Amino acid sequence: MIRLIKPYIEFEEIETEIKEIFDSGMLTKGEYSKQLPQKLCEYTDAKYAFNTTSATTALSACLDILGVGVDDEVIVSDFSFPATANVVEAIGAKPIFADVSLDTYNMIPNELENKITEKTKCVIFVSALGNPSGISEIKEICVQNNLPLIHDAACAIGSGVDNKKVGSIADLECFSFHPRKLLTGGEGGAITTNNESYAKLLSTRLNHGAEVINGKMEFVTYGYNYRLSEIQCVMILKQLQKLDSIIEERIKMQSEYISQLEPIGFVAQKHSSNVIHNMQSVVFTVPQDTDRDNLIKTLAENKVETTIGTYCLSNSKFFKDKYNSVQNNALYLEKQTITLPCHPYFEINDVVNVIKKVIR
Ligand SMILES: *Cc1c(COP(=O)(O)O)cnc(C)c1O
Repeated sequence: MIRLIKPYIEFEEIETEIKEIFDSGMLTKGEYSKQLPQKLCEYTDAKYAFNTTSATTALSACLDILGVGVDDEVIVSDFSFPATANVVEAIGAKPIFADVSLDTYNMIPNELENKITEKTKCVIFVSALGNPSGISEIKEICVQNNLPLIHDAACAIGSGVDNKKVGSIADLECFSFHPRKLLTGGEGGAITTNNESYAKLLSTRLNHGAEVINGKMEFVTYGYNYRLSEIQCVMILKQLQKLDSIIEERIKMQSEYISQLEPIGFVAQKHSSNVIHNMQSVVFTVPQDTDRDNLIKTLAENKVETTIGTYCLSNSKFFKDKYNSVQNNALYLEKQTITLPCHPYFEINDVVNVIKKVIR
């Protein structure tokens, strides 16, 4: 089977460090848990970074420190993984689904402008499949309307806009280190921000609500434990060192796919010229007369693992039953996009040949 993605880390690369972790007896809150946020700051140029257990817990913590609650509305990109809207629902607020561009798969600025009301508390922009195109326009609208912008950058580590790395563009940025993403700790996540007061709120919230006052630890508010273990942190740190070269390879693979598939009617996800897309996922819109589900099924029968692009959140059973506000473009993309394998362990021709056979 040609798999969709393979983690960019081997046991041998971290064998020494894992032994060291066991020898030290510090399985959590040790050297590597400190290093990871520091290295993320260096890499993204963000002022502050925090470890979390996932992008989902990262997003939840951000909504929490922004004071989002019952009766509030949060405008979210509609083409994403359900976690983006679930966190809004879970905190008691209402997700408002903004439709996305058929080219970039990202929130359309006009959609955002039209959906802002008195109840809007903040905005969650998703870099769909790692592509941050359009975030600057969204940020501008948020600034004009005095709305904090959370960036669901779960897929976007290493991507950039205008020579700036993702991580210091929005007010709060959330990353995932799930094995489907480019960096993985098995599980894991992070929040970055340049905002000092958000950083202060996060550091308390992510530490069980504790602060040191006059040399004494006091639980000044409620809080969580979303920490990562030392082993998870060292895994992520190792891959972070290789991230830029991983991305370079993936961009090359995507252009190879483009040159083979666009002539037969497939259309690649587009990004703006000022954007570097990390190609977390290589996604195409299949030709209109192609049955995408059948294509995925037939590819699997031919030992090529593929999947859908991602989900139309407003069309998921729960949100559709509750809000009935399905967005057209996101729905189209949910039906017509396909994610293709991208890693160094197979030949692109082997995938392309099967695709050509199926759609012929
Ligand atoms: C993967 C993903 C998430 C969830 O990440 P976890 O770390 O698994 O919680 C959230 N949003 C988007 C856009 C994702 O792709």
